[in-house]
Amino acid sequence: MDTADVVVIGAGANGTSTAFHLAKAGVKKVVVLEQSHLASGATGKSGALVRMHYTNEPETRLAVESFKYFENWNEMVGGDCGLNQIGLFVFTPPDRYDDLEANVAMQREVGAETYLLSADEAAEIDSSVSFHDVSHVAYEPRSGYADPSATVYSLARAAMGMGVDFRFDTPVTRILTEGDRVTGVETANGVIQTSSVVVAAGAWANKLFQPIGITLPLEPKYARVSVFRWSFDRPEKHMTYIDRINGTWSRPTDGNCTLIGAEIGVRETDDPDNYQEAPSQDYINHCRQQLINRFPVMRHSTMRGTWAGILMRSGDSRPLIGALDQYQGLYCMTGDSGTSFKTSPAIGKCLSELVTDGRSTTVDLTPFRPSRFDEGKPWVDEHNYGADDEDTISR
Ligand SMILES: Cc1cc2nc3c(=O)[nH]c(=O)nc-3n(C[C@H](O)[C@H](O)[C@H](O)COP(=O)(O)OP(=O)(O)OC[C@H]3O[C@@H](n4cnc5c(N)ncnc54)[C@H](O)[C@@H]3O)c2cc1C
Repeated sequence: MDTADVVVIGAGANGTSTAFHLAKAGVKKVVVLEQSHLASGATGKSGALVRMHYTNEPETRLAVESFKYFENWNEMVGGDCGLNQIGLFVFTPPDRYDDLEANVAMQREVGAETYLLSADEAAEIDSSVSFHDVSHVAYEPRSGYADPSATVYSLARAAMGMGVDFRFDTPVTRILTEGDRVTGVETANGVIQTSSVVVAAGAWANKLFQPIGITLPLEPKYARVSVFRWSFDRPEKHMTYIDRINGTWSRPTDGNCTLIGAEIGVRETDDPDNYQEAPSQDYINHCRQQLINRFPVMRHSTMRGTWAGILMRSGDSRPLIGALDQYQGLYCMTGDSGTSFKTSPAIGKCLSELVTDGRSTTVDLTPFRPSRFDEGKPWVDEHNYGADDEDTISR
């Protein structure tokens, strides 16, 4: 009989990080089941911005804890996560200045290095930006972006080195239960008996929950990017940017291009098993226009590529991390809502603590509990930036 101490379903950033931390905590037989290959879900398609600017304290704590890993990857994990610390600006509507100020103060208290700059001060740092509609920005000098595949590959290598058993091309067809307990998983290659299952299945999570009677407000969501070559007269300085006014995020890629994601305004299919990996021309046009709005010098740039992925959006755009009360031994990280690559090192550590000790001490996971929807207490940030929270672009 095939058995495991813990089965993790999904080898994206969160499943792999969880397996790594379980092995580090001394759990002997950890099996990771992945229907395809490492980082084949949202993770491999991620913009992979690594920053601390969240509009709530619990996610900021996860980001700050995770940043310790990204900055010290070789010592804490081994290998290279491809971190580029080129700095971050966050643009918010001027009439949300009070919220921006409150969020930056909260983030500083939690340990983030972040500053509130006037538009004039920010223009001295990066002259490619148009600040015509901005009064202040949040500035994180040490933030930037990582390589999401390299991040997962090095986590997996380290986990394998500690004995974790990764099985690729192995879809889990069903979670097995008896009464109110988890007893195993059924895969395309047979059954594995276990008393602990962590579901980190990204946009596919509903397919595992529905057959065992768990219904959560989770909706797969198409997320896209376009790549534009820098124009002839663009200054070389290029940071990472979250633009809550134009509904975009962007960062450099390939040494001379801008990678931009614009989540608002164009919708396409959201089926994780049947979606177009290349977004539509409407989407590309939308990105081009939004890019020009913030970086006028990019009006003379050439489109060089696109891609799309599927993530899982939750009912309040915040992740669900923790135990599922319906079955003893069942845990999840789902509803990433497009912002859970940068927090994956800490999410994995916290989930590992929950599985092994019954509670998470690195960051308190209580606010992320999946039961908050059944309790009628979906998450509401005190200081958000307005309507686009509906369709998060907070990468
Ligand atoms: C275009 C885009 C840009 C993004 N930009 C950012 C960003 O800048 N910063 C940031 O922090 N986040 C960003 N995100 C979000 C981030 O990528 C995700 O939050 C994160 O990667 C989720 O990781 P995960 O491991 O939870 O899920 P996934 O990476 O989706 O992994 C889930 C895995 O589970 C596997 N699986 C599913 N069902 C089964 C099954 N039944 N059996 C076995 N295996 C199964 C899947 O094959 C998949 O590999 C972005 C996402 C996209 C798509």
